[in-house]
Amino acid sequence: MNVAVIGAGVIGATVAARLAQKGAAVTLIEQATPGSGTTSTSYAWINSNGKEPPAYYNLNLAGLQAHMRLSPKDETGWLGLGGHVEFAVDDHHRDNLAARVKRLQGWGYGAEDISPEQAQTLLPDVRLPKGIQRIAHYTDEAYAYPAKYLAFMLTEARQAGVEMRTGVEVTSFEPEGDATALTLSDGSTLRVDKVVSAAGRWTRSVAALAGVDVPVREFTEPGDVVVGYLAVTNPLPVQLSRLITSPWLNVRPAGGGRLMLQALDLDATADPRNVPDPDSRLARTFLERLRALLANTEGARIETIMVGQRVMPEDGRTIVGPAPNLPWLYVVATHSGITLAPYLGEAIAAELFGEKQDAFEEFRIERFMTDTTYGQPYAPRKPGEQ
Ligand SMILES: Cc1cc2nc3c(=O)[nH]c(=O)nc-3n(C[C@H](O)[C@H](O)[C@H](O)COP(=O)(O)OP(=O)(O)OC[C@H]3O[C@@H](n4cnc5c(N)ncnc54)[C@H](O)[C@@H]3O)c2cc1C
Repeated sequence: MNVAVIGAGVIGATVAARLAQKGAAVTLIEQATPGSGTTSTSYAWINSNGKEPPAYYNLNLAGLQAHMRLSPKDETGWLGLGGHVEFAVDDHHRDNLAARVKRLQGWGYGAEDISPEQAQTLLPDVRLPKGIQRIAHYTDEAYAYPAKYLAFMLTEARQAGVEMRTGVEVTSFEPEGDATALTLSDGSTLRVDKVVSAAGRWTRSVAALAGVDVPVREFTEPGDVVVGYLAVTNPLPVQLSRLITSPWLNVRPAGGGRLMLQALDLDATADPRNVPDPDSRLARTFLERLRALLANTEGARIETIMVGQRVMPEDGRTIVGPAPNLPWLYVVATHSGITLAPYLGEAIAAELFGEKQDAFEEFRIERFMTDTTYGQPYAPRKPGEQ
């Protein structure tokens, strides 16, 4: 089987590697450079926390478990282990947290209530928020370094014989029976049996080249559900080896002593055409919140602010499967793609080799054709919200 995979983000690279390892002849096509899409602007929290409905929880859990199996224990590993600590300071968040921990425990997920003293032990430099009502520790969650994951997968892909074409865009398809030819922006063409579109936020335009509508949102205005800020600090003498979420700030290690910050309530102004400077008011707000939450941050500066653009299907959930009536085209587009990539890549390769994936049944493209009432995508979950 000859396959063209479009997009060398975490999803496309994993699909390409796994297909080639099963014996397919794979060309991985990337319009820019590997990882330059959403993969490079991700908070990369590996979890299945608060993911609904159950089928979506199961997909994300499979992703988390696949990361744990796959990430090497040496310096090539991409995971930061140690779990995640969540603080609730108001009644609503407290009740939500209590219910969520109970539900997750019932499903066998590593979730427990902890005391302020236990939180202080897990997070030596944390300044416990005033009025704290409840604290949860999710023992098995992790954060990832997406670039390291991608490096691992691209090596696997190369070793399995994947041909990589970077700096070329797929510009058209010319179907020939059950197969197709692709035209690339350098004028070359490629004949393949299958195309896997893993084009992230460009999915709608790539699918449109084949005459299919795959409803993945595109940025329209600041504060859209698709956009979000991430800020990265200078290296700091802070002891932090796990994720924190709190009502004002989410924090995770970002390598070399740097911290990555996210504050979902600030995303209302996020606009990828207008990225704030590292000394902007937004940066100062991030720093104030960081200093309130962690000790030894007096010398903190923001080195980088990014505006990430999510891959957001119209109803917020993964799209995966063959395009209706086009035997040669298979489409995958998803939020939480860092969590999902190792599982999805493997399962998609199996499906293309004839092993239908029951776990994908609720995530087919056809749902948008039969159910025109699909709702708004849920906004990324703020602590305390479902
Ligand atoms: C602010 C933010 C926070 C996030 N937090 C988390 C989190 O905590 N946990 C988590 O699991 N996920 C998180 N995500 C989501 C996650 O980062 C994405 O779901 C994931 O990176 C998507 O990867 P991808 O490979 O599908 O897309 P991409 O990385 O965008 O890759 C798609 C690639 O396709 C290429 N391409 C497009 N069109 C063409 C064409 N015509 N020809 C050739 N190449 C083409 C693009 O150049 C791009 O490189 C977050 C995202 C954002 C923005």
